[in-house]
Amino acid sequence: MAVGVLALQGSFNEHIAALKRLGVKGVEVRKPEQLQNVSSLIIPGGESTTMAKLAELHNLFPALREFVQMGKPVWGTCAGLIFLANKATGQKTGGQELIGGLDCTVHRNFFGSQIQSFETELPIPQIVAKEGGPSSFRAVFIRAPAILDVGPDVEVLADIHVSAIETINSNPSIQKEEDSAESGKKVIVAVKQGNLLATAFHPELTADTRWHSYFLKMAPESADGTSAIVSSSTTD
Ligand code: GLN
Repeated sequence: MAVGVLALQGSFNEHIAALKRLGVKGVEVRKPEQLQNVSSLIIPGGESTTMAKLAELHNLFPALREFVQMGKPVWGTCAGLIFLANKATGQKTGGQELIGGLDCTVHRNFFGSQIQSFETELPIPQIVAKEGGPSSFRAVFIRAPAILDVGPDVEVLADIHVSAIETINSNPSIQKEEDSAESGKKVIVAVKQGNLLATAFHPELTADTRWHSYFLKMAPESADGTSAIVSSSTTD
């Protein structure tokens, strides 16, 4: 079955292109019934309030929640991460509807506004262990959220010292904002919980396909909660 990409708004074309580079077909999902034809789902970055409004308009929330609860692999990038979180806080949080399921609190626009977007080399040991390649990943953060706390079942895949971000350091005004980025603070930017994957940054905007490859290896969970065994053999 193909990989679904929620195509309401945001960088869904870029995800489909990244999947194509790995030889995998990504299909656009806009209607609840289309979720029945995909084995996993990517929720792209974009603007989470707009995305939530469109999802509501298309009556997608019940089907999306069911998809998550069935243990099918779902990856949220940036706005997609916000969508998957159990709780969202921070600037411009208008109480938008969330899919939920990912046991964490996410802070929207944690690093500031659009012009405080940045790129950084992110150490990704767990991804390297599975996918190989360089020890770090060039991560693109665009008006990105950060994860402030996680539940016991959530595995942290990447975090960053806020003080390491040049953009923040050169914009002291950000540090003065209440409840925003603090110098020296460490925040989480990539997590995994069962078959949910979430990244605050945008792997689909880089040529490095290791996050997509990692996600494609996540298999649907069986009824007893364990990961289904998928044969890697193409001959049987
Ligand atoms: N700031 C956006 C939001 O809160 C997310 C940005 C992104 O997806 N690049 O929805």
